[in-house]
Amino acid sequence: MPEQSRSVTFKNVSKTYAGGVKAVDGVSLEVSGGCFVALVGASGSGKSTLLKTVNRLVDPSAGEVLIDGAPVAAEPPHLLRRRIGYVFQNIGLFPHMTVAQNVAIGLKLAGEREPAARVAELLALVELDPALGARMPDALSGGQRQRVGVARALACSPGLLLMDEPFGALDPVTRDGLGKAIRALHARIGLTTILVTHDMAEALLLADRVLVMAAGRIVADATPRDLLAGKAGGAADALVAVPREQARRLAALGE
Ligand code: ADP
Ligand code: MG
Repeated sequence: MPEQSRSVTFKNVSKTYAGGVKAVDGVSLEVSGGCFVALVGASGSGKSTLLKTVNRLVDPSAGEVLIDGAPVAAEPPHLLRRRIGYVFQNIGLFPHMTVAQNVAIGLKLAGEREPAARVAELLALVELDPALGARMPDALSGGQRQRVGVARALACSPGLLLMDEPFGALDPVTRDGLGKAIRALHARIGLTTILVTHDMAEALLLADRVLVMAAGRIVADATPRDLLAGKAGGAADALVAVPREQARRLAALGE
């Protein structure tokens, strides 16, 4: 199941909501195909708004977003979204449908009549027993539900996966396991992944590139290695200081 990872370009993107809040303020950047990017920042810094300009849940007030060089504004949103996987905190599985039916939603919309084999393949991809396909969502753990959400998001082989605090409601062990699983999946199927998180440690451990957002702007853009070395500037240093200090204290405890 080789996929074509996609590049994403933001050209001077701004979003002012009705009421006057400038949530995104002139963001320009290029995410190359195959990259795993983490978008980090305080609550209200504009992370979700910026992410949603990619799949047109938000249309920018100014500027444009391109996927593989083509403006997203040129494509009807429902078709665009079939090519973009999207996972968010409470993934919103339909409670009255089985796991398999939930995973198959996008496949059915795309005209697939016999999705069973693909559904089994997708459940295996997210390391779930295909037998879970027969269960209802409320008979799964939180971590299993998020895995189903990822399987559903990847059903139509999107090549681009957007995730907005997907691990937010999970306990730390489940969260860590799912993060590693997503990172492995990203590499295995050749995705471009943009992960929104407020957790700098998670961003450093999972991403190839970390973007820090504050007040609608990208204030740092660096590799985890450069961030840890303090090369990304003051706003980023303040965020990196937290996990670094925790790692130091934990190491000291073990001595
Ligand atoms: P983050 O994901 O970093 O927490 P958001 O993109 O959700 O940030 O929000 C950025 C700013 O835009 C915040 O001030 C928020 O209150 C505001 N905002 C977000 N969505 C809307 C909306 N639909 N209408 C008006 N203001 C919004
Ligand atoms: Mg958000």
